Amino acid sequence: MFNSTNYIFMIFVLVSITGCSVFEYSPYDDNLNTSIRNSNLKNISRIQDILTEVEADSFNFAIISDSHSDYDDLHEVVKKINSHSDIKFTIHLGDQTDLGLKFEFENSLNELNNLKFPYVAIIGNHDYLSQGESIFEMIYGKTNFSFQIGTNNFIGFDNIVWENNNSRPNFEWLKNELAGLEGNKFLLMHLTETSNSMELYKEEYLSIINNIQDLYRFHGHTHVLDIDWPRVVAPMTSDRIIPVISVRGNIVSYYLLEPK
Ligand SMILES: [Zn+2]
Repeated sequence: MFNSTNYIFMIFVLVSITGCSVFEYSPYDDNLNTSIRNSNLKNISRIQDILTEVEADSFNFAIISDSHSDYDDLHEVVKKINSHSDIKFTIHLGDQTDLGLKFEFENSLNELNNLKFPYVAIIGNHDYLSQGESIFEMIYGKTNFSFQIGTNNFIGFDNIVWENNNSRPNFEWLKNELAGLEGNKFLLMHLTETSNSMELYKEEYLSIINNIQDLYRFHGHTHVLDIDWPRVVAPMTSDRIIPVISVRGNIVSYYLLEPK
């Protein structure tokens, strides 16, 4: 038979076993341990500082995606990118978490912050889960954003539908961003137009990008490398294949860093 001392002991044991994980994995926890805020804007400014006026039309950047909770693979991918000093920045095309949890963003940051050159992050559908959208916005900033490097235009577009309360992507914003642009255009977004959740919007999206010259599109989400140039779907980081985009004026090409 249990007496009150036994009950107190049992409660103590249960709290000891479960206590940490209950708090660490709470989907409502967005109280970040990192002080990093608005990292995309700051890193874009660093990229613009790193690339001199001459280099701003001649540079290489890497695209990676879907690291999820594969921190070891992300670690290796970061090391690999660092060993190529001609890669001046990296774009993470989304799903740096499984469940949009605080500790997942922080673990990914621990690895991504080891990149020698700056990186910019796009939101993925998994990053939207739990409190993920607000955590992403705290760390990285707005989920739709654009920036210029020389005559090159980068547009980060949030096209998440299902995990964003079945919202229609903000195509008006995208149209505005693309309107009248000269030079190379790089469209960065997580979902491909063939993703199930984009089914309703595929035609609308294709009609917007139709006939736009010098448009390059980079995606993640499918986990599988898929190149139909000028469109590249980056594989998941565990594949350790890294597409690198080479910009030389209006000549844009790609090559792959393969695992050893
Ligand atoms: Zn995804």
